[in-house]
Amino acid sequence: AQPALAAPPAPPANAPYLNPRLPVSKRVDDLLRRMTLEEKVGQMTQAERGAVDENRDQITELKLGSILSGGGSAPADNTPEGWADMVDAYQSKALATRLRIPLIYGIDSVHGHGNLVGATVFPHNIGMGATRNPGLVREQQKITAKETRATGPQWIFGPCVCVVRDLRWGRSYEAYGEAPGLVAEMETGIEGFQGRRPGDMKRPEHVLATVKHYAGDGDTVFGSSTTEGYTLDQGVTVTDRRTFMKVNVAPYVTAVKKYRVGSVMPSFSSVDWKEDGVGNPVKMHAHKELLTGVLKGKIGFDGFVISDWAAIQQIPGDYATQVRTSVNAGVDMFMEPYSAPQFVETLLAEVRAGRVKTSRIDDAVRRILKAKFELGLFERPYTDRRYAKTIGSPAHRAVARRAVAESQVLLKNRGRALPLKRNEKIYVAGVNADDMGNQAGGWTVTWQGQSGDIIPGTTILDGIRQYSKNVTYSEDASAPTAGSDVGIVVVGETPYAEGVGDVGNGHTLDLSDADKANIDTVCTAVETCVVLDVAGRPQIVTDRLAKMDAFVMSWLPGSEGAGVADVLFGKRPFKGRLPVSWPRSEDQEPINIGDRKYDPLFPYGYGLRTRGGHRH
Ligand code: BGC
Repeated sequence: AQPALAAPPAPPANAPYLNPRLPVSKRVDDLLRRMTLEEKVGQMTQAERGAVDENRDQITELKLGSILSGGGSAPADNTPEGWADMVDAYQSKALATRLRIPLIYGIDSVHGHGNLVGATVFPHNIGMGATRNPGLVREQQKITAKETRATGPQWIFGPCVCVVRDLRWGRSYEAYGEAPGLVAEMETGIEGFQGRRPGDMKRPEHVLATVKHYAGDGDTVFGSSTTEGYTLDQGVTVTDRRTFMKVNVAPYVTAVKKYRVGSVMPSFSSVDWKEDGVGNPVKMHAHKELLTGVLKGKIGFDGFVISDWAAIQQIPGDYATQVRTSVNAGVDMFMEPYSAPQFVETLLAEVRAGRVKTSRIDDAVRRILKAKFELGLFERPYTDRRYAKTIGSPAHRAVARRAVAESQVLLKNRGRALPLKRNEKIYVAGVNADDMGNQAGGWTVTWQGQSGDIIPGTTILDGIRQYSKNVTYSEDASAPTAGSDVGIVVVGETPYAEGVGDVGNGHTLDLSDADKANIDTVCTAVETCVVLDVAGRPQIVTDRLAKMDAFVMSWLPGSEGAGVADVLFGKRPFKGRLPVSWPRSEDQEPINIGDRKYDPLFPYGYGLRTRGGHRH
C-alpha cells in the first residue's frame, strides 16, 4: 500500500478518549481531533432498523452514529432477548470501525416500552396530565427507562412536551395538556429517564431523553397542513414571537435549564410570524432563529438536535438544499430512514464545497459524542440485561395501575352514583370495556397500535370482575339487562398515531353510532347508568349527558385496566382533573382556558372528587 493513501491509524490503547477517568469534555476533544470528515458525518447519521437489517455491514462502512426503531418497530423475536440481541448485533458492527465509536439506539417508549410485548404500558401523556402528579410521572419514566434499556435502546424519543391547543390534532393524547405550565410540571419525567446528575445516565436504569416536537406542533392552524390527510398535524403555527415563547417554547426552557435534557427533536410543522406579515412559513427543521438562536443560544441547550422522520425532505428545494439548510439551521443528527447513504454522500459534498462549515460539523459531533460518553457507551457498549427480569413485573404494574386510577376524571355523578358497591349486579357494554389494544392506543407494539388482545395485562372488564362476581357483558348491549341495577357503558376510540385521529370514527370527535346506541339502550334499561370514555381526547357527549348518572373520562389507560375499577368501586378516590377543555361541539375547537369567549362543556381543571378507601 502507498503510505500516503493509507487509512488513518487505529488509536493507541491509551488514547485519552478511551480513558473513563478523564472528564467528558477532554474525551470529546481527543476523539474529535482523531476523526476524519467521513467519520464525523457518519456520527450525524441515524438509519432505520428495517433499512440496515438486510445489510448490516453498512453500519461499519458508513460509520453510522445511530439507529432507531421507527415507530417503535420491533424485531421478529419481540422479547427482551430478541430486542437486546438485535441491538447488540448492530453494535458489534459499529465497534468494528477504526475508532470503535459505539452506536446510540433510539426508540419511542412514549407510554412505557410499549413496543415490547410484556412491558408495563402506562396511560398516555394526556392521562398522566390529568393526575397532576409530577412525582408519579417521574416514577413512571424511571420504570420506562429501566424496561427499555434492559432490552438495548439507550435513548427514548420522549417525553412529548407539546402543548395541545386543538383537540382535532391526532397527537392530542401525546400531550400532558393545553397549559404550558402543566406540561412543564410533568417534565419530572425527564429526571426519571436521565437521572438527577449527569453521571446517572451511565447506569443501566437510565436513558437519554428527547423533548419533542420543538415547537408549536400542537398549535397549528386547522387545515394548514400540506401533508395529505393530516389537516393539523405537520401544519403551520401562525403566531407572534412573544406568544410563541410563552405557549410553545416555555416547556423547553424548563427541560433544558432545570432537567438538562440531552436531546431535542424539532417539529414537522412550520412557524409563520405575524409581526413579519404572515405568508412566509418556515419549517422548524430549517428554522435557524429558533434552533440555533433561541434553543442553543438564548436557552443554552448543550445537547444535540435530532431531526424527525425524513422531516428535512419537507424543506423546499432539492436534497442538497434540504441537507445544507437543516445542518446550518442547527440540526445535529439526521433521522434518515430512507436515505442514510445518500445523506452521508450529500453532506460530505456540501462540506467539501464549503457550503457547510467544518466548525458546524464539529459542533454537531461534539454534542453527539458528549451524550455517548455520558451514557457510558464507550465502556459498556453492549446491553446490560440485568433488569430484564423486572420488565412487566408486579411492582412495575402496580405503579401503572395507580397511575390509571389517579388519571380518571369524574365529570358527572348524579345522586352519588359512584363509587359502586362490591358484588353489585352489573351489566357492562361496549367494545372498549374489554379490548387491550383499544385501551392502550397508538404506539403499542406497532406505530398505529391495534385493536385486540395484543399485550398482556387487565382490561377494564377484568378489573370490574375483580370487584363483582355478578357481571354480564356484551359488546353491543344486545344481552338482556333484566335484573341489573347498574349499567356501565364503555365508549371511545380505536387506536391511531399521528395524522387526524380515529379513522373508525371518521376522524371526528363524535361518538361512534354504536357507542351512542349502547348509551341509549343501557341507560334506558338500568337504574344507574355509568359511562366511561376510553379515548385519547374528549369526545362530543353533549346530547347524551342527561341520560348518564355518572360520566368518567378514562383516557388511554394502557396495560392496567384494573386501575379504572379501583376508582369505580371506591378502593381509590377520584382525583383526576381535566388537562384540556372539553368542548360542547367539535366546531368550538380550538378552545382553551384563557380564551376571551370560553364556554366549554367542562372547563380545564374540572374533576369531581370522591373519597377513597370506602368499605361497603
Ligand atoms: C414522529 C416522532 C417519532 C419518530 C420516530 C415520527 O413520525 O413524529 O415523534 O419519534 O417518528 O418513530
